[in-house]
Amino acid sequence: MPVGTLATVKGVSPAQLADTGAQMVLANTYHLHLQPGEGIVAEAGGLHRFMGWSGPLLTDSGGFQVFSLGAINRISDHGVVFRSPRDGRRIELTPERSMEIQMALGADVAMAFDQCPPYPATEADVAAASRRTHAWLERCLASHNRPDQALFGIVQGGCFPALRRESARVVASLGLPGIAVGGVSVGEPVEEMHRIVREVGPLLPEPIPHYLMGVGSLREMAVAVAEGFDLFDCVLPTRLGRHGSALVGGERWNLKNARFRHDHTPLDPSCPCPACRQHSRAYLHHLVRSEEMLGRTLLSLHNLTTLLRFTTAMARAIREGCFAEDFAPWDPASPAAHTW
Ligand SMILES: [Zn+2]
Repeated sequence: MPVGTLATVKGVSPAQLADTGAQMVLANTYHLHLQPGEGIVAEAGGLHRFMGWSGPLLTDSGGFQVFSLGAINRISDHGVVFRSPRDGRRIELTPERSMEIQMALGADVAMAFDQCPPYPATEADVAAASRRTHAWLERCLASHNRPDQALFGIVQGGCFPALRRESARVVASLGLPGIAVGGVSVGEPVEEMHRIVREVGPLLPEPIPHYLMGVGSLREMAVAVAEGFDLFDCVLPTRLGRHGSALVGGERWNLKNARFRHDHTPLDPSCPCPACRQHSRAYLHHLVRSEEMLGRTLLSLHNLTTLLRFTTAMARAIREGCFAEDFAPWDPASPAAHTW
């Protein structure tokens, strides 16, 4: 899922986004609550109409942003009180309030309000955050009453295997239509993330979608897909694009680099995106150097296309029995080269 924080995937129109192969988009409850406010979105007929995206949409719960961005005044079992970074006003977010806002936004999938502990944190603090997350999930379920919207629960537990197992057991027992693993990609070493994914993945109920939150690098997605994960979100493709970087053949290239100045070949000859079909590395280098808006848009489109080609190639490789954790379909030596 490309990330459309403020009801827009930055720099990319909905039609361009559809052409990258994107099927589902994530939007952020916290940011949309602050601006323009869920009332305006509901007035427009919901998030799909407001942003002009008819495909599936998912909103996060706002919890991650409150705990990572907000000037927090108080955390209690009731909820979180924080000051708006926009105008300093006092805002209280509780499980019930998060459901109210997400129901008003009207995405296809809403996420339960959870407490995502920072990394590193003590086992006692992570255990307390997990217990609170489970209690909040029950309150989310009790107050969510929009039948055309699915509610996914979130497994927490930090880097502690026993807490992860317990959280997976509690969340899996509730018969939800989808389940997410949160509290990863919060600064822990990448080997820790792999360990969590390998331990928790097999504990999740088989028939429902498994969503690994905040992860979208190629290697990490392949490791998670091998453990049965289906959904990912990541700001990386558009953030890299805005900063002049491109994902090519598993590497990150900085287009500002002087080596591209006289390079009139396509960015990635195997890529079907507009940046690669219609333009050269020298032109993209020039746009990035000149800080032209088009450069950011083209590189964002290329990076989104690359990630979505990768996930599509994984799906095809699974069907054809040639998927592996070290999946590198662009490598001619890989048995999955034909999927790229
Ligand atoms: Zn491209």
